[in-house]
Amino acid sequence: MAKKIIAIDGPASSGKSTTAKLVAKKLNFFYLDTGAMYRAITLKALEESVDVNDEKKLEKLVKDSVISFKNENGIQKILLDGKDVSEKIRKPLVDYNVSLVSMHKKVRKVLVEKQKEIGRKHNLVAEGRDTTTVVFPHAFKVYLDADLKERAKRRFLELKDKGIQTSLEEQMKEIAQRDKLDSEREASPLCLAKDAMVVDTTHLTIEEQVNRVIELYEDTSRVS
Ligand code: C5P
Repeated sequence: MAKKIIAIDGPASSGKSTTAKLVAKKLNFFYLDTGAMYRAITLKALEESVDVNDEKKLEKLVKDSVISFKNENGIQKILLDGKDVSEKIRKPLVDYNVSLVSMHKKVRKVLVEKQKEIGRKHNLVAEGRDTTTVVFPHAFKVYLDADLKERAKRRFLELKDKGIQTSLEEQMKEIAQRDKLDSEREASPLCLAKDAMVVDTTHLTIEEQVNRVIELYEDTSRVS
């Protein structure tokens, strides 16, 4: 039987990750963090000194890699060639290089195929830029959005929590800039899939936005 798939996209700091994780937990679906896969390959390229501009070498690297996920006490871990790299992939050097690696079409092709394969085995909630368009075009699609100011506030508080000092104005500028880059890039830009349900989270709590997504999904599954 075809697996059930919910794909979530939206601009920076719209609450994609938190929502996707919690929706998956509530529905007992697998949580597929596609960004973590691009990060894992970026980490490997950096560790093996593969030039992030060399598409051919990166393609070989990604083809030769085994990426898997495991659940440890309710927390999802990502394994690269059998080793837990969940923390390492969040390091600034990976942040800095991941968009360069994910720009390459040949890298994307291999990772998209791996993602589709996971989608053939599990009911899942997938999060990531092209999950609503390229990876799972037949999924139930949600586009989370929120006002720029609200997203900047969330990012500001998140960074503050991590002990990083910044200002609301600075975050507004940075997020506006990321929105622009994300929408204008050539490969899989940020765009609203035409059949996606838009959930504006500006005035919603996390719990409300999770429940809203589940409600919409369940309503749609009932009629289809
Ligand atoms: O979601 P996260 O911030 O972990 O994603 C890291 C990076 O991986 C993104 O900035 C983007 O460059 C890339 N990515 C992508 N396609 C996806 C998921 C992530 O290009 N489906």
